[in-house]
Amino acid sequence: MDTFAAPHFRDDTTAREYLERLLWPEGPICPHCGTINHAYATKRQGVYRCAEKACRKDFTVTMRTVMERSKIALHKWLQAFHLMCASNKGVSAHQLHRTLDIGYEAAWFMAHRIREAMRDGGLAPLGGGGGIVEANETYHGKTEQPRVSPYRKGRPYYPRGSRGPKDKRPILALVERGGRVRTFHAAVADQITVEKIVRENIDSETRLHTDESKLCFGTEAIFASHETVKHSAKEYVRGDVHTNTAEGYFSIFKRGMCGIYQHCREKHLHRYLAEYDFRYNHRVKLGYSDGDRAALAVQGAAGKRLTYHGPH
Ligand SMILES: [Zn+2]
Repeated sequence: MDTFAAPHFRDDTTAREYLERLLWPEGPICPHCGTINHAYATKRQGVYRCAEKACRKDFTVTMRTVMERSKIALHKWLQAFHLMCASNKGVSAHQLHRTLDIGYEAAWFMAHRIREAMRDGGLAPLGGGGGIVEANETYHGKTEQPRVSPYRKGRPYYPRGSRGPKDKRPILALVERGGRVRTFHAAVADQITVEKIVRENIDSETRLHTDESKLCFGTEAIFASHETVKHSAKEYVRGDVHTNTAEGYFSIFKRGMCGIYQHCREKHLHRYLAEYDFRYNHRVKLGYSDGDRAALAVQGAAGKRLTYHGPH
């Protein structure tokens, strides 16, 4: 934990200056009118006033970020960002509560806001150029929300059955071999849903690898190729065809979710997925240090605000 010796982890003012350098590399940005570097510092620390005639409004560096109106000191925010970015499997709200010496509820909110900062729009298609993308699904936790399936003419229903994926929350992962991941918590993992996600998120010049799951058939027409391994016949690798990268991603996710985030409401599952995606997409192998990852997450905090109710 020796990196917490850095000044921006030590006090609120230094943390604010650090945030200003990180979020405003070209000078203060007025969140009201978007003007860059045309504002002056007021007597109140950290408060700037827009110098645009039509605007003249006050702002701070945390305005319209996930840190807005938080009572937690900014250096503690930066410590939380660092902790959540540096640990492989995440950090629980209990851990943040103890390590940062803040209330549990505050820690819980903070963690969810940081996950929001980690969420990326992710619109550029994965794969392309003949590269490989693995598509695979897994199930985590029990469903709490009714499902809507086009097979049932959109009528909501609760999946039944105590075993197998029926009453579980389906997660679909698309993983570039040696590259990025993008995961989805689908309301229901049927062929229509999966095909839509796959079609919208993978470049057509891609070799798609899956197991023999029925969810992905019919995609040959879309992609350069679609190759499958037959797990039911104990075939896991055939040449360079496999889904081990996706399996590896799921194993990190599941170890984290079982060991650290034991209780995760279904409505929050997409945020946890965003957290694991973010760390995977900025992993050491791709050239990112813990510090780089934390700085990127902090930059992602801008332009995002969260308003929702507490942990229970
Ligand atoms: Zn302005």
